[in-house]
Amino acid sequence: MPSAEIITIGTELLLGEIQDTNTRYIARFLRNEGIDLFRTTMIGDNENRITSTVLESLSRSDIVITTGGLGPTVDDPTRNAIARAIGTELEFRPDLWEQIKQRFDRFGRIPTENNKKQAYIPMGAIAIENAVGTAPAFYCRIENGLIISLPGVPKELEYLLENQVKGILRSQFNNKYVIQTFVIHTSGIGESVIDEKIADLETLSNPTVGIVAYPGQTDIRITAKALNKTKASKMISKIMDIITQRLGGFIFGFNEDTLDEVIARLLLKSNLKVCLIEKGTDQLITQLLQKYNIMISVSANFNLENPDSLEINLENFYKLISPNILLVTELLNTNEKSATLSISYYHLNQRINKSFQFGGHENLTLSWAANTTMHFLRSQLSQT
Ligand code: ATP
Ligand code: MG
Repeated sequence: MPSAEIITIGTELLLGEIQDTNTRYIARFLRNEGIDLFRTTMIGDNENRITSTVLESLSRSDIVITTGGLGPTVDDPTRNAIARAIGTELEFRPDLWEQIKQRFDRFGRIPTENNKKQAYIPMGAIAIENAVGTAPAFYCRIENGLIISLPGVPKELEYLLENQVKGILRSQFNNKYVIQTFVIHTSGIGESVIDEKIADLETLSNPTVGIVAYPGQTDIRITAKALNKTKASKMISKIMDIITQRLGGFIFGFNEDTLDEVIARLLLKSNLKVCLIEKGTDQLITQLLQKYNIMISVSANFNLENPDSLEINLENFYKLISPNILLVTELLNTNEKSATLSISYYHLNQRINKSFQFGGHENLTLSWAANTTMHFLRSQLSQT
């Protein structure tokens, strides 16, 4: 299986002026093509550094994909840098200059002398026609690998990957493998507890198993390489079975599933609705759930602000909506580093009161509280 590295070029990236979205796009593209991505590098518009980074990447990997720096201005140094990396010079290509002129013509514009720079590519490189922009891209097959230089503009890059690079990689590498990824979503269990339970799986090399933590939700990603999709799926489902045995009830869904969707499905299935009284969480849970037809709104004459009678009020109120569910959730920020979430749940004869502590950063508190409440609701619903 071939390995690859990505180098994104642009001083504006390093200055934080624009976000690098190309890396993510190429990474997914490579995964779908069954190519291992070993490393990604971000670098400024500096010829020397691009040359040395390309050489370094080539010493480790078979394929190096660069993006950016192919424009017509002085600060677009990729062409020169690649030529130097492969020990050659730039060469003027009249055919590319023709293409550039024609493209300008179509837009009713006249190319400048600067644009002529874009008709130079390293000697021995093969031009990749760029039907959606002016800068021609190119690739160079050299002894120890393949360098592919693509434009920085995301739309151009995406178009070229699909329509040109895919074919080039397939013909150059005859890669027989596919990579499949499967994501398991859990809630109500922390990253470190999961880590303890599946530590042995995390050291596997194929499939690989990795953990990604969010406030109140932890995902487990399984990635398998195999000769075809069926084989990869089989490898994934073996690991899935082990994880399901170990984490069982904490798993709420897979891949595109979201916690709110899963809750909505459970409620609809049991023909129940929920009345949610939400305090301190900016109505975050309400916003997530109200797009489904599963909510009962709090009646206008129900006085939440009277603490003395809150318990009695809730009981009376609950009688009105029973057998539907009443869920009261309140987030109290005790200080900026810790928060308490208290949840009361009313359903049939059940009255459950629970309280949870959170010790993370305050920016994360709201999503933690929302996810924790939804996890609680989902666990109750799974038992009904
Ligand atoms: P052009 O022919 O348009 O000049 P180029 O190959 O020279 O293309 P750059 O000049 O480096 O590419 O970048 C063009 C624009 O593409 C940037 O202004 C930026 O908006 C976007 N861009 C460049 N690199 C990235 C990246 N890694 N992720 C997202 N956007 C990017
Ligand atoms: Mg640039």
